[in-house]
Amino acid sequence: MTTPIVEMDGDEMTRILWKMIKDELILPFVDLKSEYYDLGLVKRDETGDKITIEAAEATKRLGVAVKCATITPNLKRMDEYKLHEMWKSPNGTIRSILDGTVFRAPITLPSIKPAVRNWEKPITIARHAYGDVYKSVEIRADEPGVAKLVFDGESGKHEEVVIQNFKGAGVLQGMHNVDKSIRSFAHSCFKFALDTNQDLWFSTKDTISKKYDAQFRIIFEEVFQEYKEEFDKRGLEYFYTLIDDAVARVIRSKGGYIWACKNYDGDVMSDMVSTAFGSLAMMTSVLVSPDGNYEYEAAHGTVTRHYYKYLAGEETSTNPIATIFAWSGALRKRGEKDGLKDLMNFGDQLEGACFDTLNSGTVTKDLVNLMEGVEAKAVNSADFIAAIRKNLEKRLA
Ligand code: NAP
Ligand code: MG
Repeated sequence: MTTPIVEMDGDEMTRILWKMIKDELILPFVDLKSEYYDLGLVKRDETGDKITIEAAEATKRLGVAVKCATITPNLKRMDEYKLHEMWKSPNGTIRSILDGTVFRAPITLPSIKPAVRNWEKPITIARHAYGDVYKSVEIRADEPGVAKLVFDGESGKHEEVVIQNFKGAGVLQGMHNVDKSIRSFAHSCFKFALDTNQDLWFSTKDTISKKYDAQFRIIFEEVFQEYKEEFDKRGLEYFYTLIDDAVARVIRSKGGYIWACKNYDGDVMSDMVSTAFGSLAMMTSVLVSPDGNYEYEAAHGTVTRHYYKYLAGEETSTNPIATIFAWSGALRKRGEKDGLKDLMNFGDQLEGACFDTLNSGTVTKDLVNLMEGVEAKAVNSADFIAAIRKNLEKRLA
């Protein structure tokens, strides 16, 4: 390695897996250069959450990061960890500093059949993570009255429309988005499509929402002009359609593309797609910033229930695959950025060794009942990682 990757450690069971993965699958094979940031809750509390900001800044500087799952504190955690403050979600903090978009894709196996029979390849969901209903304001109107939408421009321009003349009680909501964020979202999506050599689909409801959703469509079309030549050269397609048409096409498709969604659509559709592909433990996630920085992680959380068993001295069969793929993804990207063929190859071989292991039927408990056509045997996390290591050694020999 020439440039370090940013390494963000995390919490609970995934922190345990993190160390096992590093010790067994990374350090024996790679001359690892990393800038280490401990995003475990204890350290975040100690540093007043500065460590999270530093890790995000480091990602901007170095360009590639790998992150372990972390606890987002709630009241229960305040007590459990005796926190000074209810710190914000690290993922939210990192995402807003990098201004990035999250792409989630399932890791698919021939022996795990998706609920939608014709899906042959993964479907990657890109969710716009700013605004709309997630940053809306609401009023419960409890009597008749007029609701208006008002805009007062800095120039003195005034615009006003009546939302509804309420004859009785009702509800109303005001939401917004900003061009800058939509544009960043579009850049991240087109970049990631080229990165992964996949078509990009984008959907809104601009027939109904003729200004709001239409603005998303217009910005995507504008930004696409910067990428069109490269898309044409590679035979890739940018495809815009209505959200309901997109849903119907997704179900009929073979998969193998990126589906960019507005915030709410992405929230709902990513759960639908990930469940239909099988297991949250097999879902990867990468945050891509519009200027081309990458942060890789697993889509699942810290697997708290398994951690308590671990603390009680019990063996657990927690699935490390998504976390291993975060490492392989980050190392491959680092290799790509620095022109290091061996490092890129290592990323491929590490993933290959995971597939060798899974396809032979050696799996973690969560996968046993999902597999068809192979005799699957559940092993604990340590034995599973050891089996992957054996296959990796074979591949690299
Ligand atoms: P979770 O950690 O994803 O776990 C939920 C359940 O899903 C587990 O109890 C387990 O089911 C199953 N599961 C998830 N990952 C698995 C794996 N790798 N192997 C086997 N089974 C797996 O979600 P959570 O329990 O709701 O959240 C726990 C903590 O994670 C919370 O503090 C939350 O804030 C945090 N979180 C972090 C991130 C992130 O950093 N990206 C994302 C989500 C949540 P069984 O118990 O039935 O075996
Ligand atoms: Mg959701």
